[in-house]
Amino acid sequence: MGHLTREQTFEPKLKMKNLNILIIGAGVAGLTCANLLKRQGSKFQIVEKESLGNFNGSGYMLGLLPLGGRVLTELDLDKEYFEQSIEMTDYEIHKENGTLNKAYSLNFINKDYGSYRGIGRKELISILTKSIGNEHIQFDTTITEIQQKENLVIVIFSDGKKDSFDLVIVADGIHSETRKLLWNDNEYKYYDTDWGGWVAWLENKNLNAYKEYWGAASFLGLYPVKNKIGVFLGGPNELIKKEGMSGFVQKIKKEILPEFKIVHNSLDTLESTENPFYWEFHDCRTKDWQKGNVILLGDSACGFLPTAGVGASMAMDSASALVDELSRTDKEHIGYGLKLYIKRQKKKVETAQEDSRKLGKLMFVKSNLIAGIRDYAIRFYSIKQLAKNISKTIEG
Ligand SMILES: Cc1cc2nc3c(=O)[nH]c(=O)nc-3n(C[C@H](O)[C@H](O)[C@H](O)COP(=O)(O)OP(=O)(O)OC[C@H]3O[C@@H](n4cnc5c(N)ncnc54)[C@H](O)[C@@H]3O)c2cc1C
Repeated sequence: MGHLTREQTFEPKLKMKNLNILIIGAGVAGLTCANLLKRQGSKFQIVEKESLGNFNGSGYMLGLLPLGGRVLTELDLDKEYFEQSIEMTDYEIHKENGTLNKAYSLNFINKDYGSYRGIGRKELISILTKSIGNEHIQFDTTITEIQQKENLVIVIFSDGKKDSFDLVIVADGIHSETRKLLWNDNEYKYYDTDWGGWVAWLENKNLNAYKEYWGAASFLGLYPVKNKIGVFLGGPNELIKKEGMSGFVQKIKKEILPEFKIVHNSLDTLESTENPFYWEFHDCRTKDWQKGNVILLGDSACGFLPTAGVGASMAMDSASALVDELSRTDKEHIGYGLKLYIKRQKKKVETAQEDSRKLGKLMFVKSNLIAGIRDYAIRFYSIKQLAKNISKTIEG
C-alpha cells in the first residue's frame, strides 16, 4: 500500500465554517476567542469601542498563569509570548517599611504546570491582534440594539447598520455596556472594595520576583514584565481623594526605609507620571452568562479584582472552553452548546473570583492593629493556603 500524502492525512478543522459569529470587544477574552475561532475555520467579526489610534495604549502589567499561557501554546503563539515576557520565580510580601515579611517560591508552578510569566497587557494584545489581522476588527464601533429571533441574533451597530449572526459573544470587559442591552440591573452585581490606585512603569529594570508592600491603608506592588516593572500604588478611595497623588506618595515614602531604593524610585516615578489612570477596585458577577444565542465571556461574565492576578488567565481559559464546546455543536443547537460551556466553566471562574476577594480582604486593610496581626499571621501561610481555589484551578 502506498503512503498517503500530508494533504491526504491531514484534514483541516473546518467544522465551524458555516457559523457566523460576532465578538464584541477586542480585549484579552475577545481576541483569544477570535484566534481560536480562526483555527476552527469559523466566520467571525469583531467590534471594538476604541478607535484604531487609541486602541491598546500603554496598559498595565499582567501575570499569566499556565492556565492562560497554555492557550497561547494551543494557538502556536508561544514563541512570541515567551519572547515578550519573563518567567516569574518568586513572590515576596513586605511590611509597610519595606522589610521582607514572607517569601514564596513560584517554581512549583513553573516546574509542575508550565511557565508563570509577566507580560504587559499591550504586548499580549499585540500578539493576539497581529495573528488575526486588523482587518477583522471594526474599530470605533459599539452595539446599540440586540434582538433574538428564533436561532438568529439581530444586531444594530453604532453606525446604524444592521446585521444578523448565529452567535454573539459579549467580551467588552468589567463595565460591559453591551450586557445592559439584554440583562437587567438585578441580574449582575458589582462588589466594591472602596480601594483603588494608579499604575506607572519603571523602565529598564529587570526582576523575576513580584514584590508587594502591604501597609495599613496603603498597598504597593512591583510587577515585572520584560525590561520594566509595573508599579501599582493603592489605598482607600476616600483617603486618596483627601491626600491627592503627591500627598499620598509622600506619606508612603516616609514609611519606607531609605535602603529600599527600588521602592523609592518606584514612588518617584509614579509621582512624576502625567495624569495616571486611577483604577477603582471592584469586581462583578453575572447570574446567568447566556441569553439565547448571546453569551458573556471574560470580565463581562465574571470580572476580577487584580489581587490574585488571575482574571486574564481565566478569560483565556474560558475562551478556549467556549470554542471547544462550539466546535462540537451544530448550528441548530448553539443554545445547548452554550449551556454545556457554562456548566463546565462558571463554577471554576467564580471560585477563583472568591479567592481574589479573600486576598483583597487581607491586602486592603485600613487599621494598624489589624495590619499588624495580619503581618504576623501571614508568616505561617503557605502560598496554597493564600489562594486555595486558584491552586486547585492551576492543578486542573
Ligand atoms: C490594574 C490591573 C491589573 C491586573 N492584573 C492582572 C494580572 O496580573 N493577571 C491577570 O490575570 N489579570 C489581571 N487583571 C485583570 C485582567 O486584566 C482582566 O481580567 C482581563 O483583561 C479581562 O479580559 P476581558 O477581555 O474580559 O476584558 P478587557 O481585557 O478589559 O477587554 C475589553 C475590551 O472591550 C472593549 N470595549 C469596552 N466597551 C465596549 C463596547 N461597548 N463595545 C465594544 N468594545 C468595548 C475595550 O476597549 C477592551 O478592548 C488586572 C486588571 C487591572 C485593572
